[in-house]
Amino acid sequence: AMLVVACGNSGANTGNPGNTNTQQANGKGCKKVGVLLPETASSERWDKKDRPLLEEKLKALGVEVMISNAEGNADTQQTQADTALTKGACILVVAPFDADKASAIVSKAASQGVPVVAYDRLIQSDDLNYYVSFDGVRVGEVQGQYIVDHYKEYVKGDNKNLVMINGGETDNNAKLFYKGAMNKLQPLIDKGELKKVYDQFTPEWNNDTARTEMDGALTQSQDNVQIAYVANDGMANSVIAALKAKKLNGKVLVTGQDATAAGIQNILLGDQMMTVYKPIVQEAQATADIVKALIDGTDPKTVTKGTTEKTASGKEIPSVLLEPIAIDKSNVKRVLDDKYLTKEEVCQNVP
Ligand code: BGC
Repeated sequence: AMLVVACGNSGANTGNPGNTNTQQANGKGCKKVGVLLPETASSERWDKKDRPLLEEKLKALGVEVMISNAEGNADTQQTQADTALTKGACILVVAPFDADKASAIVSKAASQGVPVVAYDRLIQSDDLNYYVSFDGVRVGEVQGQYIVDHYKEYVKGDNKNLVMINGGETDNNAKLFYKGAMNKLQPLIDKGELKKVYDQFTPEWNNDTARTEMDGALTQSQDNVQIAYVANDGMANSVIAALKAKKLNGKVLVTGQDATAAGIQNILLGDQMMTVYKPIVQEAQATADIVKALIDGTDPKTVTKGTTEKTASGKEIPSVLLEPIAIDKSNVKRVLDDKYLTKEEVCQNVP
């Protein structure tokens, strides 16, 4: 039998754009996988869920895994990519901090024959090889649908004001979530059932900025807010703090995403009404499945099965797009049944 090439061990292809070894050019036989995460402050998921799950699933393939986190800086992420390539990474898994700037990472990897899997967030590069995520438009629709189903419990007469606190615009997901949410909310706005009084993207999904935004929206509207569409749990927690300061928590419909421990606590306390649960174990597993196919030299399309996501320029990237799950007070148990969170985690601070 032919021996596979351990591309990370010889150093032969490191930093060498002229590498012509076709076995290495597509990740076949790869023994070192570089994983680049975007930041930690926007959501606890990256450190608490994605990092350990990717490490576990990729290590199970018998490869060395190098994980770094750009902490919200596109230049840092570029440097981390360069470092991973120099150290011999022959497949990269990248959750970009900046969808456009990360295209430089893909170009450089491509020039060295290193395939790139965009993880959770799309990279705007036509050289991108694969994309694994949850269906972003669906996530926004799940949030928007909750508002459609429940807004009547919160609006009264002309008091039907909607605040929208969206994610960071350098993250393609933030745009998809917004699009999905608007698919559901625009008809209500058109009919005059809801009035949008505030609508902002939040750089880096910064949780402190979300607090400032909500304080501003409350001041502007003289505390007249009934619905707060908030893109994730981290920002929702800040919005709830702003509402608590006005004794309005529990009276405003607040959405979220990520099924974080604090988010579920806020749901159990009645201050947040829903979150979107994305079983990250599936995302890490699908990523590992694609990486395994690359290493084995089999076609990763057996994993992506014809699904694609379009880059801004219209290039179709073979993708795995997983289904998000709506969680509210009635089905929190789902998150426990999956062992995504423990009972101790969700019950902390909840009487
Ligand atoms: C992820 C969300 C997360 C957000 C902020 C998005 O790209 O899909 O799960 O809440 O980034 O980290």
